[in-house]
Amino acid sequence: MTLLEVRDLAVTYQGGAAAVRGVDLTLEAGQKLGVAGESGCGKSTLALALLRLLPAGTRITGRVTLDGEDVLGMRWGQLRAVRWAGASIVFQGAMHSLNPVHRVGDQIAEPILLHGRATAAAARKRAGELLEQVGLPAARASAFPHELSGGQRQRVMIAMALACEPRLIIADEPTTALDVMIQAQILRLIEHLVADQDVGLIMISHDLAVLADTCDRLAVMYAGRVVEEGPARSVHEDARHPYARALSAAFPRIGDPASRFAPQGLPGDPPDPSALPAGCAFHARCPVALPVCAADDQPLRDAGPGRAAACVHVTGVPESAGPPGDPAAPPENARSTP
Ligand code: ADP
Ligand code: MG
Repeated sequence: MTLLEVRDLAVTYQGGAAAVRGVDLTLEAGQKLGVAGESGCGKSTLALALLRLLPAGTRITGRVTLDGEDVLGMRWGQLRAVRWAGASIVFQGAMHSLNPVHRVGDQIAEPILLHGRATAAAARKRAGELLEQVGLPAARASAFPHELSGGQRQRVMIAMALACEPRLIIADEPTTALDVMIQAQILRLIEHLVADQDVGLIMISHDLAVLADTCDRLAVMYAGRVVEEGPARSVHEDARHPYARALSAAFPRIGDPASRFAPQGLPGDPPDPSALPAGCAFHARCPVALPVCAADDQPLRDAGPGRAAACVHVTGVPESAGPPGDPAAPPENARSTP
């Protein structure tokens, strides 16, 4: 069964910010999907929506199915079981997610106890095992967060995320706050854990190179939409959407310190999601925009095997499409719905 299916997901915050718009994603168990995009493009909102962790008053529409269960329609009790046991999130900046006055071992044991999975003694033992699994000595369980380095704290966060053996792990910028050497270690750790346990991974980052190195597939988000999707290497090395190309040019290599900031050579910022421009949301920054781009938003189009991009310049008419100008034919290049 497909692990995660997201269909036409849209999130609008109270006040009108359309932070996620019409997102479709599919993830199988054991697959690693990278979600890329500049700050403000809706990546964290997407992650939070998958587990319904958004503030009250936020409007969510569409469908999210996790292991066949409809997450958006779930009652509170079911939802609580899904969080941690079904899916869990590793956030950026572990210092802010860990409780400073509790020993890390107790914090790892807490979700295990909350889910009634073990006695206190068994949960403590499991916390030690989880620490070893993420490369820390079990004895570090008695440490307080401030006694650990940034990389060690992020390992603790990963141990917490693994505690209830989730089917899906969402890692939102898990290494952005870490230095380059530690970043590589943490990425390898996440990769190995995912491979060993056949869970699904959604890894979020502004760094396309990091994602291309870690993930099977990539989705590039801009202004709340997925503007390009495909096999990780092809998207990184041969992006079809001008935004994905700019992002890829900005992050040429893993761990390049110069490439940890906004895409170089791309003027301006992503639009404010409460005042989106007409047409393609990227057109004002796009080096190859045509007049039509300011008028009409572009749908995702077929861009080669397993690939799609939401750009008027994407060519390669699918074979099923009729001859140009045939009114009965599907729109040229329109992506066929699976
Ligand atoms: P990313 O993770 O890609 O940086 P976010 O999902 O955090 O993007 O934010 C997407 C947009 O939603 C941003 O413009 C941000 O200002 C807006 N936003 C995020 N959280 C809230 C909130 N609680 N209320 C209103 N707007 C928000
Ligand atoms: Mg974010």
